[in-house]
Amino acid sequence: MLLRDHPRLGGITRELDFERRLTRADGLLLMQDPDLPSVLALGEASKRARYGSDVFFNSNLHINQTNVCVLACRFCAFRRGPAAPDAYALDIDEYLARLAPYAEHVDEVHTVGGLHPEWTIDHYEALFSSIKREFPHVTVKALTAVEIKHLADISHLSIAQTLSRLRDSGLDILPGGGAEILSDEVRDIICRGKESSAEYLAIHRTAHELGIPTNCTMLFGTIETASARVDHLLSLRGLQDETGGFQCFVPYPFLPDHTRLPQAQLASANEVLRVIAVSRLLLDNIPHIKAYRMNIGDRLAQLALNCGADDIDGTVGHEEIMHSAGSTTSLDDGRPELARLVRDAGCTPVQRDSLYTHFRRYQDPPAPGRAHLPVAGQVVS
Ligand code: SF4
Repeated sequence: MLLRDHPRLGGITRELDFERRLTRADGLLLMQDPDLPSVLALGEASKRARYGSDVFFNSNLHINQTNVCVLACRFCAFRRGPAAPDAYALDIDEYLARLAPYAEHVDEVHTVGGLHPEWTIDHYEALFSSIKREFPHVTVKALTAVEIKHLADISHLSIAQTLSRLRDSGLDILPGGGAEILSDEVRDIICRGKESSAEYLAIHRTAHELGIPTNCTMLFGTIETASARVDHLLSLRGLQDETGGFQCFVPYPFLPDHTRLPQAQLASANEVLRVIAVSRLLLDNIPHIKAYRMNIGDRLAQLALNCGADDIDGTVGHEEIMHSAGSTTSLDDGRPELARLVRDAGCTPVQRDSLYTHFRRYQDPPAPGRAHLPVAGQVVS
């Protein structure tokens, strides 16, 4: 049966054929229709129409600068109080020492962490300018919306002043974390004290107005409904209509280990794939949908690359937030291993820069070998 003749999804299929925008009702249907294979097929068709078999990745490193946090979100396994025996806060020299062994092989450092009670904007200005001084080729993708809000609060600055100063010291991109679900009712239960839904959107709007591109995210599988997921996607789509500043959408399911959210529904593998597909279909104005393998694992990420995702994160090297909550995804994959994962999914690996402005088809180096640090692969146009 052709999808345009599908008894429930046929109308959506025809809307997509005519490149018409899907509605909230369409989103709800896609999020709940029992014919999951057809929903996934629609997501994949939308991805293929944009990018064919190409799947994008970059060479990055995650550094979580501190796990000390003044908040205690119930879904978070990472944060520690300042006096906890395993609390840590990397000073600038320690941070640079962690980056240094990877710096030759990465073009982006991804840095998010807790809301440290004493680090004001001065600390982050010094950190970002040090990164740029020591490793000028490295893009700084750092700080979630709530970290920006916290810095503004303790530094007695506006959001615009905070973002401007961080940009001028070396911040290139916001990674988009902290959106969770953009429903204040849900947020009050899973992350009380965090920025509100409106504040998340306002911080990203301000970043875009200041020329700072951002990603956006969704944490699902806690206590939210299908309609809350759809409304979340539509809120992001609405802001993108205004600013065009989102590069990539990154959906990831809640991981429960060491958290305090026993009422969470948890997302099945099927739900993860459905969210990827529906995201691709509803977010018609956000260029890229990421399979976040740190969270969903390599095998599910490969399936996601056939259900609507066109981007995969990344060489990574080091990551603590998802691994605190139960992720077992390998951290020692270099470019050849990541390219093999993409090819095994039936896709074509394409290396990109952080701003999605330069793309090169990836070709393995002449003598491939496994390494514990990212390996410099040969890249050809
Ligand atoms: S999610 Fe972020 S803000 Fe919330 S407790 Fe964890 S580190 Fe702190």
